[in-house]
Formats: sequence, C-alpha cells, structure tokens
Amino acid sequence: MDFDLTKDQQALKAKARELADGVFAERAARWDEREEYPWDNVKDLAAAGFMGMTVPREYGGGDRPVLDVILVIEEIARACGVTARIVVEGNLGVVGALREYGTEAQKRRYFPWVVQDGEKPAIAITEVEAGSAATDLTTHVDEAPEGWTLTGHKRYITGAGTSRLYLVYARFGGRPGADGVGGVFLERDTPGFRVGHREFMMGLRGIPEGELHFEGCAVPKENVLVGPGDGFKKLMAAYNGQRLGAATVALGLAQGAYEKALAHVTERKQFGRPIAEFQGLRWKLADMAIKLDAARLLIHRAAARAGRGFPEPLEAAKAKTFAAETAQQVTSEALQLHGAAGYGRSLPLERMMRDARMFAIGGGTLEMMRNLIADRILPSRADWRRRSN
Ligand SMILES: Cc1cc2nc3c(=O)[nH]c(=O)nc-3n(C[C@H](O)[C@H](O)[C@H](O)COP(=O)(O)OP(=O)(O)OC[C@H]3O[C@@H](n4cnc5c(N)ncnc54)[C@H](O)[C@@H]3O)c2cc1C
Repeated sequence: MDFDLTKDQQALKAKARELADGVFAERAARWDEREEYPWDNVKDLAAAGFMGMTVPREYGGGDRPVLDVILVIEEIARACGVTARIVVEGNLGVVGALREYGTEAQKRRYFPWVVQDGEKPAIAITEVEAGSAATDLTTHVDEAPEGWTLTGHKRYITGAGTSRLYLVYARFGGRPGADGVGGVFLERDTPGFRVGHREFMMGLRGIPEGELHFEGCAVPKENVLVGPGDGFKKLMAAYNGQRLGAATVALGLAQGAYEKALAHVTERKQFGRPIAEFQGLRWKLADMAIKLDAARLLIHRAAARAGRGFPEPLEAAKAKTFAAETAQQVTSEALQLHGAAGYGRSLPLERMMRDARMFAIGGGTLEMMRNLIADRILPSRADWRRRSN
C-alpha cells in the first residue's frame, strides 16, 4: 500500500491550493453575504481544468481518476465551500453517470457544457413527500407520440436556476417502487420547466437551493439516461461519487478551520504566554489532527479503489458520515479557539461552521448513512426474524 501522492498529484494539489488561497479565499465572504452564485470562480475553475477532470479526453476532459478530483476538492474547500461544491458536481455525480451510462450523442452535447463553460449540472431527486425515502418520488414521465412528457416537482435542488442541465429522477409509466425509477436529462429552457421558490439556507449560501416544476415538459427519447428496471440502482451507484465529493468538501472546510486555529493559538497570548501552551487547547488540536487524518484516509481509500469508476457504497457512506461529523466538530472547536473573534463575521470561522453543518443532511443524512452501513454489516431484518423463529 502506497500512501504517497505521485509527482503529478502533488503538482495538481499545489495548483488547486494556489488558486484557492490566492483567489477564492478572498472572494468567499462575498458569495456568502450576497447569496450569489460565484460566476467569477466558475470561469477560473474551467480555465484551470478543474471542471470535467473525470471526462474522457475525446470529449475534452482531463480523464483523471476520482482520487485526483478529491485532492482538488479538499484544497478548494479549505478556502470556499461553495466553490468546492461546484467542483464536486462538475466532476462526479451527474458527470460520472453521463460518462458511465450516457449515449454518444448525450456525451457530445453535455460534456462541453461542463468542461468549456464550467456548467455544474444539477441532480433532482428530492420531493415534498420523498426526502430520505427517495424511491417514494412521484415525478413521472409518460409516453407521448414523440418521446416522453415529464410532470411533477422537486425541491431543495442545488443549482436550481443557475444550472443549465438537470438530471431528473422520475417514475416511468406509473411503475411503482424503485424499479419504476429512471433518470432523464432536462435542459433549462425546455417549455413547461419552471424554477420555483428558493429556500434560503444556513450555509453554503452562494448556491441556490430551490424548487423545480415540470408541467408536461417534452423529453425526447434521446434524453433518457437510464430507464426503469435497473435505472435507480445505476443512478445510486453513480451517486456514491457525489457522496464522496460531499465528504471531501466537509473535510476541506475542517482542514481550513484547523489551519486557522493552529496559526491563531501560536500568535494569541493570554496570561503572558501563547494560548498554544495550555494543555487543554493542545489536546483539542491533537484531536482535530487525528480526526482530519482519519476522515482523509477513509475518503482516499474509497477514491483510490473507485479508480475511474464509482466508489463502493459502504466505503463512501463511512467516509461521508465520519467527514461530516468531523467537519462539525473541527469547525466548531476552531471557532472556539478564536474566542469572540471566531464568533465575529470579520473572520471566516462562523461561515465555515455554518457551511459544514450541511453535510450531515445533504447527500444522505447521517442517519440514512448509518442505516446503509448497518444493513451491510448486519444480517437483514428478514434473516433476524428467521433466526428467532
Ligand atoms: C443544502 C442542501 C442541498 C441539497 N441539494 C439537493 C440536490 O441537489 N438534489 C436533491 O435531490 N436533494 C437535495 N437536497 C435534499 C436532501 O437530499 C434531503 O434533504 C435529504 O435527503 C433528507 O430529506 P428530508 O430533508 O426530506 O428529511 P427527512 O427524510 O424528512 O428526514 C427527517 C429526519 O428523519 C431522519 N430519518 C428519515 N428516515 C429515517 C430512517 N429510515 N431511519 C432513521 N432516520 C430517518 C433523517 O435522517 C432526518 O434526520 C439538499 C438538501 C440540503 C440541505
């Protein structure tokens, strides 16, 4: 087992760090305060080649493995969580699904949007009655003379309105359960598609989370990515990439906060000495360092094993759970070590703490991640019942 990064990976990481520290860090408060999408950063990401890194070369992408993307996401999240989320969706999630399942025509049309224009495609799963219970979704596609029509609604969709491309999870022809669900591409300017109410969130305020309404949108047959049958399974396999990306944004936020805490405790003096000399605070920093490393190892293992494909669900879920909890703990402790200044809005700690809180919910809640893990490490409930009879 080799824990060292290659020279190429080190260079990639350094390039991402330079952009994050030199450009994104200074702008991060702007997107948060104005609740504005970071279009300036999108241009910089595309120019740096950080959008479509996993896209095969023949479509203009970087043809890189998941681990390389993970390295970039962590560096960028240290400075700006919102921008790091754009890197997640510009490389994993929908991009991974398109790479794996898309038709040649879909790839030729949509990959350039990501690679050249820095477009972040959106994933539309959640509905009013289908949150954690995603397979209860009711948005449906019905056969029409020239393809399908899409009808229904979604909510809390990241990039609602700012994204040009939506991968919509929908039920085909009224078929019940997970087997009835597939995924279709919908473009923003499709007649009958409308962006509804934006839900203003606690953190990660630079990306809108909003409702989508589909009122009989025409979906040509060519826009079906995966149909019913095994479609939902395929979509969720691809979603593990998105989940690991989310874990990495959480890790990056925590790493950024930790670095700030480390610098602060050596500079700040109280009782005539740097506060880094107080043992209670030294232990806090030691705990942060352990958790960061553990989260990084879980993420890197899942990413390394994914290669150019999708992470394994159990590994992605473990990484997401641990990184999300680490992010909450580390950003909160880092704020604490800064005293009143940490709670103040002149420093980024309070923003990082708000941003970090999201990862316990979005991309699968902590409880649902633990359900997934428990279901894989324990016998099924049916097995238990059989055993106790
Ligand atoms: C910032 C943000 C961005 C998001 N972006 C997107 C997006 O781009 N696309 C998209 O489709 N969705 C998105 N979501 C929605 C997100 O995926 C859902 O919020 C999440 O799946 C939980 O659904 P819910 O909010 O309806 O909560 P609920 O499912 O109602 O859950 C409420 C509580 O009950 C718990 N719970 C539910 N069922 C169980 C169970 N079986 N066992 C134990 N506990 C359970 C949950 O863990 C939670 O604590 C986003 C959410 C946020 C906050």
